[in-house]
Amino acid sequence: MFKKILVANRGEIALRIQRACRELGIKAVMVYSEADKEAKYVKLAEEAVCIGPAASSLSYLNMPAIISAAEVTDAEAIHPGYGFLSENADFAERVEKSGFQFIGPTPESIRIMGDKVSAKQAMIRAGVPCVPGSEGELPDDPVQIRRIAKSVGYPVIIKAAGGGGGRGMRVVHTEAALVNAVQMTKAEAGAAFGNPAVYMEKFLQNPRHIEIQILADKFKNAVYLGERDCSMQRRHQKVIEEAPAPGIARKLIEKIGERCVAACKKIGYRGAGTFEFLFENGEFYFIEMNTRVQVEHPVTEWVTGVDIVKTQIMVAAGEKLPFTQRQIQIRGHAIECRINAEDPFKFTPSPGRVTSWHMPGGPGVRVDSHVYNNYFVPPNYDSMIGKLIVHGDTREQALARMQTALNETVIEGINTNVPLHRELMVDAKFMQGGTNIHYLEHWLSQHKR
Ligand code: ADP
Repeated sequence: MFKKILVANRGEIALRIQRACRELGIKAVMVYSEADKEAKYVKLAEEAVCIGPAASSLSYLNMPAIISAAEVTDAEAIHPGYGFLSENADFAERVEKSGFQFIGPTPESIRIMGDKVSAKQAMIRAGVPCVPGSEGELPDDPVQIRRIAKSVGYPVIIKAAGGGGGRGMRVVHTEAALVNAVQMTKAEAGAAFGNPAVYMEKFLQNPRHIEIQILADKFKNAVYLGERDCSMQRRHQKVIEEAPAPGIARKLIEKIGERCVAACKKIGYRGAGTFEFLFENGEFYFIEMNTRVQVEHPVTEWVTGVDIVKTQIMVAAGEKLPFTQRQIQIRGHAIECRINAEDPFKFTPSPGRVTSWHMPGGPGVRVDSHVYNNYFVPPNYDSMIGKLIVHGDTREQALARMQTALNETVIEGINTNVPLHRELMVDAKFMQGGTNIHYLEHWLSQHKR
């Protein structure tokens, strides 16, 4: 096992990884930007290294600074968390070339899956069902683009091959709007992701977002840890996640889970990963794979009892997966609310000083957050400041726990989306379960204020 790991991230996930290291008896070196020197995990760290100014491009995305931090502290491995450099194949390669273990899949796996076009092609080869669409990248010729859209059938969605975080997507309903939409998405993709390639998919009208968590070791052992339902989204970004997905037969999950495991073995995948699907009329359609730990991993941890972050570290150190598929059982129901520093209904970011921070507790309540009383939320990063997760024997119990937990939560000094979560947890349709990916946007348009 490693003696020392460098955590190349910030916020709640940095703290989550630090906790996993502590439990494994591994020293965690924390890195931080000048804007994060007050963070809880930095204060708690036995070693911490400042890697640059507030701007991510100069700190959390600064590969030489992160690798030097690992060198000067004698770390053996680097955990990239999520976001920032976690899905950057060049970074993974540089980490390994510098003699450190990258806690994640091989650079090749990241490269294939990081390009959504090559990811889809790999999945088709591995027998994973995909959303119907263009065979690969769209050509420049308008005539050909129109022909492809016609065969896919309107409405279609134009997506950036290098896209992520819900950005770089455009829905097209008519042929008249098609070519212009492709050109605009290409231009945006080039500017935002450094890759102008786009592809086309059929735009599914009422799907749910269902994803399969997998874990694999270096010996071609792989398991799936059931599914998560992440359909409650705003602007293609997840707001609430839960496990298991309400109302989907276990048989269907097992079938798709086994396909994902087979695909992992086929591509020699190692570490944690997520296969994301749209689910409509009883069918799964692959949309992309995330080659890292995800924000919503705690709901899976709770229903399976598997510590995903610890397992990531163990398999990176060369250990075998400590469980087989048959040992994975789903127990009860878990729900996660992402807590964002923003206006709950207008969504304007709300960084600043937290003057009061009181988190809920009691049975079946977990809070993952680096925030504390009097902490200053810097304006430079993502608005997510923590996650509230609950577990119950049934979905009804989990909902009741989340309602209670949200009502206990007090955050003052900044705005958060807690009031929005409070309303959603008592919404009749959400309480029923099985809402689709458009439900939250629709709800918001009906509850304007
Ligand atoms: P990102 O990498 O930016 O998260 P994804 O490909 O995972 O992009 O898509 C994010 C979300 O966008 C999905 O969860 C879904 O809400 C929507 N979406 C993506 N592709 C389609 C599609 N073909 N039809 C309908 N909605 C889609």
